[in-house]
Amino acid sequence: MPVSVRTFQGAEEAERALAASRTARYFGGGTLVMRAVNAGDQAFDTIVRATDPRLRQIQMQGDSVVIGAGVTMAQIIASRDAVFLAPVAKVIGGPAIRTVATVGGNLFAASPYGDFAAALLALDAKVVPVGGTPVPIGDFLDARDREPRRIVLSVIVPRPRDSRAFRFVKVSRVKPKGVAVLSIAALLPTNGGRVSGARVAYGAMGGRPVRALAVEQALEGHTLDEQGIAPALSAATEGINPQTDALASEWYRRQVAPVHLKRLLLDQRR
Ligand SMILES: Cc1cc2nc3c(=O)[nH]c(=O)nc-3n(C[C@H](O)[C@H](O)[C@H](O)COP(=O)(O)OP(=O)(O)OC[C@H]3O[C@@H](n4cnc5c(N)ncnc54)[C@H](O)[C@@H]3O)c2cc1C
Repeated sequence: MPVSVRTFQGAEEAERALAASRTARYFGGGTLVMRAVNAGDQAFDTIVRATDPRLRQIQMQGDSVVIGAGVTMAQIIASRDAVFLAPVAKVIGGPAIRTVATVGGNLFAASPYGDFAAALLALDAKVVPVGGTPVPIGDFLDARDREPRRIVLSVIVPRPRDSRAFRFVKVSRVKPKGVAVLSIAALLPTNGGRVSGARVAYGAMGGRPVRALAVEQALEGHTLDEQGIAPALSAATEGINPQTDALASEWYRRQVAPVHLKRLLLDQRR
């Protein structure tokens, strides 16, 4: 089936075109959309693009950084304002993928993809739809597969006060470009040496990036040493429903999650 491409200058116009057609698909960097086109996906016959400069901007707003949904992983790596997200962007695909893969597209990427979205979930980012108000990323991900799709304009990401408080690991079988068996993102603020207000998120441990609420609870008030993290490791997969896919079984994911969580919490990733 032929696919037509419609390019709009404004994100709002693109949004209207998308809303008017059930067979149109928005195109970020196209790493997944073009794969669907090449596979002969019949669900859409029109690609909608927008060249709106707001989609490609990275700018500071108070203590947060606002990242346009069309910003690529390569742009993140090169950005000073988003430097804390560079370790996440660096492990998404290979160089060719990172040149085009966008932050907005990652929010919609089905598991086991979505490493960047997992990091944004740990960082308590907000998602800004075109013409809409910012939505907490957890709510956005909950509704993602249910609601009629809106175009995401940007994400607002609070910058960690202490750069060492944000940690990320992607675990894959094929290095360096393999897809995640799981990824873990953790924001671990401390007060007097004890964790206060941790946020921990998993990628590839369910249909979409999920928070490890039991881990967060178990970390609260504890020190980040072997003894302090022991309850969190016991709770590593509590409330989590990992999938079985070609990369790993649910059983395997449950087995390895505490191992990698431990290394992350003790900062022993290297
Ligand atoms: C070889 C390969 C390796 C990969 N490795 C990884 C990896 O390691 N980690 C990982 O997380 N992902 C990986 N991916 C998946 C993908 O490249 C990334 O998730 C990427 O960030 C998706 O962004 P995109 O701009 O290319 O999305 P697109 O293909 O453009 O879009 C994907 C989906 O998101 C929607 N969308 C895109 N932008 C918006 C927006 N602004 N508003 C609303 N909807 C939007 C599209 O309509 C589409 O449904 C890989 C893909 C390939 C092909």
